[in-house]
Parts: sequence; structure tokens; C-alpha cells
Amino acid sequence: MTLVWILLALLLVAGGLSYRGWAKARHRDRLLASPLTDEQRAIVMKLVPMVRRLPAELRPALEGRINRFLDQVTFHGYGGVEIDDGLRLSVAAQACLLVVNSPDWFETLRTVLVYPSAFDTRRPRHDGELVHENGAHAAGESWARGPVVLSWDHALRGGLDPDDGHNVVMHEFAHQLDSLTGQANGVPLLRKGQRFDNWERAMLDAYEGHVRRVEAGHATLIDPYGATNHQEFFAEATVTFFEKPAAFRREEPALYAELATLFALDPAEWA
Ligand SMILES: [Zn+2]
Repeated sequence: MTLVWILLALLLVAGGLSYRGWAKARHRDRLLASPLTDEQRAIVMKLVPMVRRLPAELRPALEGRINRFLDQVTFHGYGGVEIDDGLRLSVAAQACLLVVNSPDWFETLRTVLVYPSAFDTRRPRHDGELVHENGAHAAGESWARGPVVLSWDHALRGGLDPDDGHNVVMHEFAHQLDSLTGQANGVPLLRKGQRFDNWERAMLDAYEGHVRRVEAGHATLIDPYGATNHQEFFAEATVTFFEKPAAFRREEPALYAELATLFALDPAEWA
């Protein structure tokens, strides 16, 4: 008799857990299928003009992901930064452009911390592994499994100019994608059928050429900060892929092709 009760209790627990999983998936799917309001869409177009270039068939996917992002992530402002719709939508839209057509998602990210401008990286530390820091004053930081820390001044300007090759939000969220493997090392989760040896050769060839040009003091298409190490190169190459795609495809066709497969996007063909 006792055994029957234990079995019944186990069944109830299993049922409860599967219901929770089902409800969560349903909530997520509803967010992904929801469009932005007209007002939200206007803010995104104004603050992140790169979105206007996105092929029309990908717009609903971007809006759904922005909704999911805003549902999942809490923003905290410091130093007088006010968290308003403009800030949330600007950051969410820039981050979600990276994954608009890919199965990757910022699964473990729950918080984005925002400072008014470049912030002091010597402040007390959060728990977790820091992907990078850029001297004592940084425009952004990405911690494995979250949080992402941003300078609003840099994040806003990065979104407003889609062609200058600088975008701190895309840079930090590229680190978030890189960290999904458990280790940020410039090798993110590759797509099905994407071969690691091809990825590695394209990345290493481009990285070594980049380091040589930076050390020789030559101008480079990818930001010189990419010469720091493999993960910074991946983050900066990602920014260049979105912001200077035609030049990137010309200069680094093999790496462009790998990133196009990774993100399932071809920004050099966008209007
Ligand atoms: Zn970085």
C-alpha cells in the first residue's frame, strides 16, 4: 500500500515538473510570436538604424526575440542612468540582431548593468568569470553566464551609427554567445554541419594576419583591439561582420563565410 502512495506522489511531482516546462515553453513561444507595438518599433528604428537594413522576412523574428529578451533580462542603472524604453529597446535590438536567424540564445543572462559612460573596472567584483576588461576604464564587460555591463553613452552611440565598425553591445553579446560553450575562447557553438577545422583555419589565418598588421602599425578593417586574443578577435570580427560587411567579405572571404554560416545571415547583401 505504501508503495502505491510513493508511486502516486512521484507521478504527481513528475506531472508538476512537466507542466512547468510546458508552461515555460508556451510563454517563450508566445513572446517570440509577438510583434512590438508601433511605438516600440519606431524607437528601435530610430535608435538602431541597422534594423532598417534587415531583410523584411526577418523583422518578425527580431521583434519576437526583443520581446523575449525584455521579458528575461532586468536592467539596473547606476550613476544616475534611468532605465527607460529607449535604453531597453536599444540594447535588446542590438543584442538580438546577432541571433535573429540562429538557434543560439543568451540562456543564462538575467541582468544588464548600465553606467552613464566608461566605468571603472576596479570597482568591487561580481561573482563569475569575466570575459575581458579593457584597462581601468571600460565601455563594456561580459561575464560568463551574465551579467553584461555597459556604458550607456557607448551603447547608444554604437546603435546610432551602424557603419563605423564600433558597437559595444554587439561586442559584449558576441562574448555571451562565445561563453555558451562553457568557455569563452573564440570558438562559439557552431551550426549543424559547420566544420570545426574550417572554422579554426579561417579564424586563425585572419587573426594572425590581423595581429601582424596591428603590430606593424597598419590601419585595419577589424578594430585593433581584436589583436588582444582569440575571444576579442571573435567579438570584434562579429562587429565588423555586421557594420562593414562588404569590405569584410572582400578582405576576409573565408572568415566572412564562416560567420555567415554561424549567424545564418549575409549582411553584405542587405540593402
Ligand atoms: Zn571584449
